[in-house]
Parts: sequence; structure tokens; C-alpha cells
Amino acid sequence: MARRYNAGLVKRHRSYSIPEAAALLGVHKHTISRWIDDGLPVIERKRPLLIHGTDLRAFIKARQPKKQPCRPGEMFCVRCSAPKRPAYDVADFIPTKAGRGLLRGLCPDCGGLIHRFVTEAKIGAVCGDLSVARPTAQSRMCDSPAPLSNVAFEKDRT
Ligand SMILES: [Zn+2]
Repeated sequence: MARRYNAGLVKRHRSYSIPEAAALLGVHKHTISRWIDDGLPVIERKRPLLIHGTDLRAFIKARQPKKQPCRPGEMFCVRCSAPKRPAYDVADFIPTKAGRGLLRGLCPDCGGLIHRFVTEAKIGAVCGDLSVARPTAQSRMCDSPAPLSNVAFEKDRT
């Protein structure tokens, strides 16, 4: 899994030696050297090598893993920074408010919880062939502070 680097740390108007760039981004000097081999431009091909901030920023951004959209049946795992199909192909649907809810599953790779917001209308399209469980009303009462009295209240006002 490719790491994300903080391109925002790199100042456009200065140049960096390899050790400086490495320290700035928290990577090994060898990583910077490898980037140069991979095409990161250097100011002059002589020692010590200097990298222009603008080039370094552009290079980091180009290598940044794209945030991939989730396909049907996938949810985004923040820890893995990638869309994942939940373990055992199951997800829970947790209603949040009218017509909306949260799909929750388990990341098969890191074991963390993965989530995806969804509207009731799109559950079918979003879930694909996952089996979606709706936790029972009883367990839902603990999750959701949305009491029925709210609904009654809304009705009263109209
Ligand atoms: Zn994960």
C-alpha cells in the first residue's frame, strides 16, 4: 500500500538536499534517491543533489494514491485507505435519520470497522450482493436516540 506524503510541507520556493527532503517528509534518504531514479527532477546532476520544492510537490502529488470510489458491495476502510468488501459479505444497516443510514461492516484485512453512508432508496444499488442485516429494534434502541415521540411531535405540528 502506497503511503501518503504531506505535499503541503514542501515549500515551493526553496530547494532541498536529499537529507533535507527526507527529514521533511519523514522518509529514508534512500526513498528520495529512489524517487530521483523514478524521475523526480533534480536541479543539477552534481553533488550535492538539490530538488526544487515545486518539483518535489508535484512528484509527491502525482504518486499519491487516488481515493478510489467504492463499488457496489464495498465500503471505505479508513485504516487501509481503500475500498473493501466487508468480511463474510455481511453488513449492518443502521438507520440514522429518516430515509438514511449507515452501512457497517468489518474490514477483512485490518479487522477495523468500515462504513458507508447510504440512503434507504439506494441500499440495493450500494450493497450489491452483500447480505444486509438490520439490527433488531431492541439493539437499535441503544444506538439511536431517535425516539418515536419525535415523530409524533412532527405530526402534531402539521
Ligand atoms: Zn482495513
